[in-house]
Amino acid sequence: LVIPDWTAFCKTMEEIFEQVRPAHAGSVATYIPQLARTDPGYWAMSICTVDGQRKSFGDALQPFCLQSVSKPFTYAMVHSELGADELHSYVGQEPSGRLFNDICLDHDKKPHNPLINAGAIIVASLVMRHATLSDRFDYALQQFKKFGSSTGNIGFNNSVFLSERETADRNYALSYYMREHKCFPPNTNLQDTLDLYFQLCSIETNSDNLAVMAATLANGGVNPMNGERVINNRACRDTLSLMYSCGMYDWSGQFAFRVGLPAKSGVSGDLIIVVPNVMGICLYSPRLDSLETVFKRFISHYQRNTVRGVKFAEHFISTFNFHNYDSL
Ligand code: GLN
Repeated sequence: LVIPDWTAFCKTMEEIFEQVRPAHAGSVATYIPQLARTDPGYWAMSICTVDGQRKSFGDALQPFCLQSVSKPFTYAMVHSELGADELHSYVGQEPSGRLFNDICLDHDKKPHNPLINAGAIIVASLVMRHATLSDRFDYALQQFKKFGSSTGNIGFNNSVFLSERETADRNYALSYYMREHKCFPPNTNLQDTLDLYFQLCSIETNSDNLAVMAATLANGGVNPMNGERVINNRACRDTLSLMYSCGMYDWSGQFAFRVGLPAKSGVSGDLIIVVPNVMGICLYSPRLDSLETVFKRFISHYQRNTVRGVKFAEHFISTFNFHNYDSL
């Protein structure tokens, strides 16, 4: 067993979970009404080890949209399909140091990495790009299902999708800017690409299942619940490398420093953390930290990571020696 004393481990995890619960700082994402209406009190944590031990706490069956947590899975899926060379001829591997939806490209006129909006829109354009939009979405949803538990809930939130699409000036601006710089593969339909990007953000699941999806990444791309390979090792390695350096928006460097593990957060308040060869963890709490004091006029665009999720990660790493460099 990868965690020999499972009962004791879960008890400590539950204690950390309860210690973090009183944290009430931050606010729910407000850029679309569907997210703004979320109950800010939800708090969930789930664990799944690479040998299939699972435990969930709190509101672990409450559905939420993946939002940006879809990005590493889409990347992994396209990587498995196209390989690193072709994929990375369109998108870089460098943390941008900028806000997640910033309109900027790297010195090769490529988006900095696949985990910010610009890069994720490019990756969306590469998902089975010769198929129809409906087949592309079906394919992506099927692939996403394979990362999780076979009985896990995974669905699609149409109202989130519709309001994402209606309130997406920045993502449209980013896409036109990238088209101007010839970032997309030939014959890309911009509206289809953006629709697919919004649809991927609107895929819905819960903490219990998302922990299994994270555990598949912890397990080198093999689903620990049924032993099926979902993506190849190289796709998994590259996904984790990018999550380590770019997964937490413009706080990625700090997260890598403090927690030292690959992770990805989304504006719905979800967060996955991967302990390679050990387990996947999912945290869900909708209140986000933000840069509002710095960017007063654009508050809604600068909401960032789940407050409780990040606090949990910090407590977790001060309790167990899972930081990448703890073993030195
Ligand atoms: N749908 C959101 C957007 O594109 C996702 C962003 C996120 O989770 N950071 O703006």
